[in-house]
Amino acid sequence: MKLFQEIESVRNYVLKQKNQQTVGLVPTMGALHNGHLALLKAAREENDIVICSIYVNPTQFNDKSDLEKYPRNLEKDLELLDEVGCDAVFYPSDQIMYSLGKDQMLKLDFGYLDQILEGQYRPGHFSGVGLVVTKLLNIIQPRRAYFGQKDLQQLAIIRRLVQEFLIPVEIISVPIVREASGLALSSRNQRLNQEEKQLATQLYKSLLLARQLYEKGQSTNQATQQAMQQLSHYSTIRVDYFEAVRLSDFRPIQEEIGQGESIAFCVAAYVGEVRLIDNIIYPEQNHQ
Ligand code: AMP
Repeated sequence: MKLFQEIESVRNYVLKQKNQQTVGLVPTMGALHNGHLALLKAAREENDIVICSIYVNPTQFNDKSDLEKYPRNLEKDLELLDEVGCDAVFYPSDQIMYSLGKDQMLKLDFGYLDQILEGQYRPGHFSGVGLVVTKLLNIIQPRRAYFGQKDLQQLAIIRRLVQEFLIPVEIISVPIVREASGLALSSRNQRLNQEEKQLATQLYKSLLLARQLYEKGQSTNQATQQAMQQLSHYSTIRVDYFEAVRLSDFRPIQEEIGQGESIAFCVAAYVGEVRLIDNIIYPEQNHQ
């Protein structure tokens, strides 16, 4: 008879006994692009079965018009998913995901993590994200789930969720996929006109500048100030925040931190009417 005291070891034991095939889940809101496909390719390499969910989760939208204008293209998505060898797609309705009605929705509180940056500017957003991701993980019960570093704070929230509720899944993070111009791929880019798209590349440029200044010895504060200054030259860009956080716990950096600590500069800004987010990690790495 075996005796286990560690969660990890008992789970591995159970998994082995069941002789299960591994399932990799890639949660998305559709309007798929190469960023999503990078997650799917990673899942394809590491799992026997790959499942993609497509669900535009209403409870994570704090702005009604953002939800209404969110791009949707199921037919094209299914073609792309077929091409990358995805085995199954989960495409639920609101009725299935929120059978009790959205007004009955459970609220999740992540403490400081949902009060800062995206949480501050999008109240309730991470509660909705946490809820839908928990539902998806419970429905699919994957061995691994894949998320992009593009949504770095979301990644911290999901890691917290999985840790707190002891959800038996490995969270895998995948680096940001960018256009040649540096613009981070996003479904929302479809809503930019040519001129705005060109302008949106300034976000990545400002992140590069901040990282470069920090690398050369400036404080995170000085680096963010200068990056903001650079962005302020463009009247079509309206910055919500530009902040440095410590990568290990996603705490905003108030004072200078120890050498060797990884940090991220995070930006959110409107380009015209479209709100975009981006980030950059220092030192450069694949944040696991
Ligand atoms: P979304 O459909 O926007 O909810 O994104 C679904 C997943 O794809 C999330 O984990 C995102 O972080 C990830 N993702 C979106 N854009 C990118 C990108 N440019 N590079 C890498 N991952 C991305």
